[in-house]
Amino acid sequence: MTTESFHRLTRAVIAASVANEWSAAVMEWDVTELEEDPIGSGECVCGQQELVLLFTITNKRNGAQLYPIGSTCVQKFGRTDLNRQVTLYSDLFRLRAAILDNKHIALTSEYFSRAMIEYLNDEGAFTPDQWDADGGYAFILDMFNKRKKDEITRPQRAKITVLLNRKVLPFVLADASLG
Ligand SMILES: [Zn+2]
Repeated sequence: MTTESFHRLTRAVIAASVANEWSAAVMEWDVTELEEDPIGSGECVCGQQELVLLFTITNKRNGAQLYPIGSTCVQKFGRTDLNRQVTLYSDLFRLRAAILDNKHIALTSEYFSRAMIEYLNDEGAFTPDQWDADGGYAFILDMFNKRKKDEITRPQRAKITVLLNRKVLPFVLADASLG
């Protein structure tokens, strides 16, 4: 990133923040949305062109939004939690594309991560049912964490499939933060 684009980024972020200094302003933001533009017509707030993955960031203090912003610019905020949000949204995006592509989706690290399962639970994907008050969240996390996948029993496999097909995958398809 050039000095000039970094300058444009800091100017845009500070202008939309409550704080007047970069070091404090970067603390006010969350990654809230991700959109894809396959033809790359998006231009980042820093001026970088041909952006394909367009993130939206939202200010927690005044509700301001900056869009589109690329992952390189979000990394300039120097916040590990923001970088994790970028990874999470990118992974969710990849999962949704795979669902739309009719790929077989298994509960493995090919498409899932612990952070993603936690996010899905926080966002309400695991609706309570007659079997689990937590809607199967703890079960899914437990199954995902199993190192030896061949220890998963047949009834457990069946339950994973039901939870993925009835709750997780429809939720990801309908997730409004994936524009
Ligand atoms: Zn940028």
